Amino acid sequence: MGLLVWFDLLLFFLLFALFVYIMASVTITNLHKIYLIFHFSMMVWPFCQFAIQTTDKPQFQLFYVKLAFVDTALISAGWLVFTIFLIGHSSFLRRKIALLLFSPALLLPLGAIFNPNGLFVLPVNGGYYERSYGILFWINFIILISYIIASLYIMFRTVKSTKSLRIKNQIKHVLQGILVLFIFIILDIILNVILAQYLPIIPGLTSLGILISAVFFVIAIHRDKVFDIVTIAHQDIIDTLALGILVLNEDETVVEINQSLLPHISLQIGDHFEIEAYLPHVEIVSNTDSFLDTYRNHPGKKAEIELVYTTNERRHVIIQAAPIMVSGTRVGRIVTIQNISELRRLIDETKLQNEILQERNQSLILIQEELFQTNQKLEQMALTDSMTGCYNRHYLTQQLEHEVMMNIRYQIPFAIFLLDIDFFKLVNDNYGHLVGDEVICSTVDAIKETLRRTDILARYGGEEFMIYLPHTTPLQASFLAERVKSAVEKNKIMAENVAHSLSITISMGIVSIESFEMENLETPKTYLNELFESVDKALYQAKNEGRNRIVSIVR
Ligand code: GH3
Ligand code: MG
Ligand code: MG
Repeated sequence: MGLLVWFDLLLFFLLFALFVYIMASVTITNLHKIYLIFHFSMMVWPFCQFAIQTTDKPQFQLFYVKLAFVDTALISAGWLVFTIFLIGHSSFLRRKIALLLFSPALLLPLGAIFNPNGLFVLPVNGGYYERSYGILFWINFIILISYIIASLYIMFRTVKSTKSLRIKNQIKHVLQGILVLFIFIILDIILNVILAQYLPIIPGLTSLGILISAVFFVIAIHRDKVFDIVTIAHQDIIDTLALGILVLNEDETVVEINQSLLPHISLQIGDHFEIEAYLPHVEIVSNTDSFLDTYRNHPGKKAEIELVYTTNERRHVIIQAAPIMVSGTRVGRIVTIQNISELRRLIDETKLQNEILQERNQSLILIQEELFQTNQKLEQMALTDSMTGCYNRHYLTQQLEHEVMMNIRYQIPFAIFLLDIDFFKLVNDNYGHLVGDEVICSTVDAIKETLRRTDILARYGGEEFMIYLPHTTPLQASFLAERVKSAVEKNKIMAENVAHSLSITISMGIVSIESFEMENLETPKTYLNELFESVDKALYQAKNEGRNRIVSIVR
């Protein structure tokens, strides 16, 4: 055995070292496990190549040859599996089609294992270190190469079609790896099989191809994080976000566009991004100058602008640009484009609803005010007499029930007047009812002028009025009664359609209360009735005694 014998073993150990490195340095996911089985199968080839040379016994050599070729079926099918995973179509492998796809790779080892009539391999010089291959080997070879070509084709197409720079990069590495393997296998076949008669055997060609392709794999796993679940999840999240995301490098070149932005933007990876191209022809809600100033002159800061695009439908959009910092230096920026049309629509709708509500509120307030005024009027109507404007009898009685009780309890003197217009029927008869009304109203006005603010004047009957005078002694009462009577007498009434002025007189009965010992306080109502009776008596007496006079009773 020469020094070259150890070359395959060295490659085997290097592959083993990579195997251990992967195991130790990566958080193992199921995808990694698939890869590790595949990697292990890649280690078997150089091992077999080495092992053939360690024995002189043909049957052992044949065993290692068979093992090596069974392994190639695993490697090539493994490449295809790996490729399918890499381009993100792992679901494809669950279908029945997968069985169909891999059945040639499963059947082929049979040819190598059984080697019927030496149709796969025949010994040369009594051993299998040098060997000649038969038709089954070539069928095997063609199918294995087909798997590799299929993998190459799939990857090549994905690199061309994918928009994601990340996927592009990682496939590129694997593509390079598989290409190297392909070249080394072809070289091995040409140099060591086809040209075997003319050249000495060059060992380790396929093994070297396997090692180099494994290195590319490890790069893909490590640097491009091919199987890294978190990276895959991040990409998924970015692609499923409704937010449009654009990643630019420091030269403003597009390095990534997420799925939701792709249909809305005529940009491709590698294009130069000009923010200005997205600003003209649009309605701009916020300040463009300050946005562009921040965007151009302060790329380390966040810039934001709100726009309205009105091409076919009105779209309200917020564009944000933020720097991507790596240990303090800017390496690019992320531009996000958010469609806030729906949000704006909702805000506008809410505003409108609010305005409507406010209007309704306003009219409700108006109605309330009207109601308040109507209520006040009704209250007034309930208390007063509509023709003269003075209190009505009902109100006076109610007030007196309360006032009189208080006066008696605290021994406060008070007085009550009852007055009636003299010969009023004559006024009605001579001038008519309307003039009669005017005379009543004018008389009331004249009486009011003479009263104190605390006195209460109420219409007691047709042209009969009652006055309650609180805190009034009998002396003050007769003085005030005189004042009322003379004011009425002096009042010259100018009635409509009457050529001359009219004047009337009144008769008054007054009751003054200044002593309280005798007063019967059983119920305020009966007491009041008594009081009214006596003032009525006084008035009656005044009328009887010739009218235009005052009769007073002091109790
Ligand atoms: P005297 O009181 O001096 O005995 O004579 P009089 O003519 O005034 O008689 P009395 O007080 O009994 O009659 C009042 C009349 O006043 C009866 C009614 O037709 C009239 N009268 C009552 N209320 C009104 C009113 O609101 N308007 C008018 N125009 N007349 C009224
Ligand atoms: Mg009268
Ligand atoms: Mg009367």
